[in-house]
Amino acid sequence: MNGAAASAFSALALNPATQENLRTLGYLEMTPIQAASLPPALAGKDLIAQAQTGSGKTAAFALALLDKLNPRRFAVQALVLCPTRELADQVTGEIRRLARAQENIKVVTLCGGVALRGQRASLEHGAHVVVGTPGRVMDHLARGYLALNALTTLVLDEADRMLDMGFFDDISTVVKQCPPERQTLLFSATYPEGIARLAEKFMRSPVQIKVQAESSGPQIEQRFYEVTRANRYASVALLLNHFRPVSTLAFCNTKQQCKELVTLLQQQGFSALALYGELEQRERDQVLAQFANRSCSVLVATDVASRGLDIEQLEAVVNVSITPDPEVHVHRIGRTGRAGESGLALSLASMDEMGAVGRIEQYQKQESVWHKLDELTSTGKGPLLPPMVTLQLLGGRK
Ligand code: AMP
Repeated sequence: MNGAAASAFSALALNPATQENLRTLGYLEMTPIQAASLPPALAGKDLIAQAQTGSGKTAAFALALLDKLNPRRFAVQALVLCPTRELADQVTGEIRRLARAQENIKVVTLCGGVALRGQRASLEHGAHVVVGTPGRVMDHLARGYLALNALTTLVLDEADRMLDMGFFDDISTVVKQCPPERQTLLFSATYPEGIARLAEKFMRSPVQIKVQAESSGPQIEQRFYEVTRANRYASVALLLNHFRPVSTLAFCNTKQQCKELVTLLQQQGFSALALYGELEQRERDQVLAQFANRSCSVLVATDVASRGLDIEQLEAVVNVSITPDPEVHVHRIGRTGRAGESGLALSLASMDEMGAVGRIEQYQKQESVWHKLDELTSTGKGPLLPPMVTLQLLGGRK
């Protein structure tokens, strides 16, 4: 079998209706993560797959769980745990698209920030697949609204982020209520120590799959700038005024840094908003809506909070601080330069971050290109303003 044939979906033992549906969705060839994980997943094996957003990982586990589903059995047979509501919504959408070919498969999303009552009603009407965040799923289990005794597939999606968000215990609580003979599929962009602990506790001789992290490729231009502790935030403003990207995602290592940077940017007239873990769901949704509709030009976020964000056009990514984890760096900059558009990744490093820069070079097998801050000009066009304005309509029903 040659390489091309091996990566066609027709090489898999999927039913003809699903094959046809994949064609109508335009999924002609498997992505590398799908080609590596679908054969063992369809054979019922437990899996630890290292894959990034955009790799096609959702279809990889969705096709596997759908393949085993019995639509005539009105019980939850698959559970997907995700770190955020945005991701859960995306996963639900993808599962529904892929399930179109099968008869009446019901997928229910269980996330916080939404009334329990409606979710309970959806469960009562019979769900085959549940997608949710660990806290809310646990809540439904505790109240007896959700039962997992018929479960055949458990998926932990973006497991590293769930661990970052402190969900280890919640995940454990949920997993303990799943039948031991289930299949467990774990997907994670990085492989921190906690993942090994999860695997050891909850998986049976998992097949490990790692598809080489995509290097940033030629469409992302990476530039590094040396900064000091004193001029780091001001340098972000200089970069924005120089490059004038319409939408920028600026990554900070801490929530405190996010807050400080947003304050400074706002003082300088930028339309900047912060996104970090403790925002309420409503605030988070508002921030994301403004960024998506381009009335906010700079989103300052922590890695955890930015997870699950799917932003179409992102002209630039700024690493306000260098992340100690090179895989996280690649993941951060991979947010820009999507869909064939070119992207700009600007990284600020102080002397004490040079070790981390070195690890990134080794990981990417690529030397950093350094530029000087004093090459930056503000182009004389005044402060960078967003192309849109969001009007808040408040008041009564009319
Ligand atoms: P994901 O990494 O799961 O977020 O998927 C990234 C995007 O790729 C989604 O929009 C999927 O609909 C799409 N996708 C997944 N698998 C394929 C495939 N084999 N061919 C084409 N597009 C795909």
